[in-house]
Amino acid sequence: MKLIRFGNAGDERPGVILPNGAFVDTSGLGTDYDEAFFERDGVTRLRRWLASNEAIAPRIPMSVRLGAPISRPSKIVCIGLNFRDHAAESNMELPKEPVIFFKSTTAIVGPNDSLVIPRNATKVDWEVELAVVIGKTARYVPQEKAIEFVAGYVLHNDYSERVFQLERGGQWVKGKSADTFAPMGPFLATRDEIPHVNELDMWLTVNGESRQKSSTANMVFDVASLVSYVSEFMTLLPGDVISTGTPAGVGFGMKPPVYLKPGDVVRLGIEGLGEAQQFVIGHS
Ligand code: ZN
Repeated sequence: MKLIRFGNAGDERPGVILPNGAFVDTSGLGTDYDEAFFERDGVTRLRRWLASNEAIAPRIPMSVRLGAPISRPSKIVCIGLNFRDHAAESNMELPKEPVIFFKSTTAIVGPNDSLVIPRNATKVDWEVELAVVIGKTARYVPQEKAIEFVAGYVLHNDYSERVFQLERGGQWVKGKSADTFAPMGPFLATRDEIPHVNELDMWLTVNGESRQKSSTANMVFDVASLVSYVSEFMTLLPGDVISTGTPAGVGFGMKPPVYLKPGDVVRLGIEGLGEAQQFVIGHS
């Protein structure tokens, strides 16, 4: 199933994209796609609800604004330097254990919302990433069971301000957390839709020029290892997001480096997870 949330920012309603491509309002199920939804096996309940209500559920115009396909989660855990080529272009050593950092959940926006360059930012950069959405409470999960704790997958652009992240001291979270720095969607694909999560093509263009072109096969630590690893250090709640890192081709790695400016258009996609587009605007 493909889960969407649609409507005005902050006022989204839940829906699904049917196999025939139609957008359907699933508000009739009585729940948003939030922690409680995933905790109470919402994906199964939604499947059942659809089986009897699909024909009568309201259709939504495909021109509707999409929000992130999950309601704001308790946390976004990001994985750093998880692609060999990206670690090399960043002149950083390949990590022996996953590098983890946080991204503020207030950075989440819809997949096609504008990217707002934050105040005093000069080095705003793109990062196409596979985001994993947790389906049930995970703590000390063994690697061989880890995939069972995944509800599904979402396309994510882990926008980063490199001065805030790397030149202002302290932790990376400063450069990762501005408003609009976490566009997610267009949809959450449930786990059954993506059986080969460790071999998905991924790409990103800026103003039509190819910047990132890779595959999740190039990850240093795969999805199951990451879910297991993060759950050693914190409890992952249903709906939480682990963003699994970006491949080579970020602006920071170009010679000379290239960063985003108002008017730029960023497009990205991952096989099976759809496409998104963000128009870049200045801070008002
Ligand atoms: Zn990242």
